[in-house]
Amino acid sequence: MSAEPSAPALPLEAGSPYELRVDQSRSVSESAVKHALATGDMGFVHSFTTGSAVDGPGMRVVAWTAGCQWRCLYCHNPDTWNMMNGMPVTLERAIEGLNKYRHGLQMMGGGLTVSGGEPLMQDRFVVKLCRSAKAMGIHTCIETNGYLGERLSDDEIDAVDLVMLGIKTWGDEKHRRLVGKELTPTLEFAKRLAHRKRPMWVRFVLVPGLTDDPEDIKQIAAFAASLGTVERLEVLPFHQLGKYKWERLGLDYQLAEFQPPSAEQLERACELFRAEGINAL
Ligand code: SF4
Repeated sequence: MSAEPSAPALPLEAGSPYELRVDQSRSVSESAVKHALATGDMGFVHSFTTGSAVDGPGMRVVAWTAGCQWRCLYCHNPDTWNMMNGMPVTLERAIEGLNKYRHGLQMMGGGLTVSGGEPLMQDRFVVKLCRSAKAMGIHTCIETNGYLGERLSDDEIDAVDLVMLGIKTWGDEKHRRLVGKELTPTLEFAKRLAHRKRPMWVRFVLVPGLTDDPEDIKQIAAFAASLGTVERLEVLPFHQLGKYKWERLGLDYQLAEFQPPSAEQLERACELFRAEGINAL
């Protein structure tokens, strides 16, 4: 995939989303941004990565969109918070790039995952990109915090093959402390997905001392089990790979002293989810 002609020199494809990328859209006018958001004909993308085996079923091409309204204390990609840090990419160009991988993705049971940042900050672009991918016979997945789920119509929800939904913690107060926003919209979106019988994977980041309260995990487990369409729940270990980004961006990183969970801690969390009949791994 290649960059738009007006974009700065960074290639659209990154070795990994851990590359720090900022200010890639400085040349885009405010009116062009508004038009892009309204039509979805252009997106702002941190980068694309290929060959991911951990962002959905099979081998994935992942579009890491820019822009997120949350401020998770453990976010490992804070450069994706600001949409203008993303590179402007026309829908046409993104589809053209994706098309090159079509056969490979189909052969390896994979597809396209749109992650971020928060993809639904650019809901029109994401909908158009997923629809185009599906028209090419490519499996589609969005990874979202669900907060802006209301932006999607029922038809648009039905057109996405899989939603990976992040549930960060339980209880409104804890949730606000952890991510800066309330929990309810995420849960409402999850219920709506379940009502429409859409397959879901839930993602939960385990941070010892921050998100590992067994009572909270049990509540998330009970909620996920009540949905009936959660195919798996991934317990992701907290890590420090994004720490340098916080430092380089001049942000106040509060988790410098926190440790990744041990294998035993991860297993204990999985067991709490499994106790509710959830396929946790
Ligand atoms: S929702 Fe994702 S991108 Fe947004 S702050 Fe949280 S971890 Fe970072």
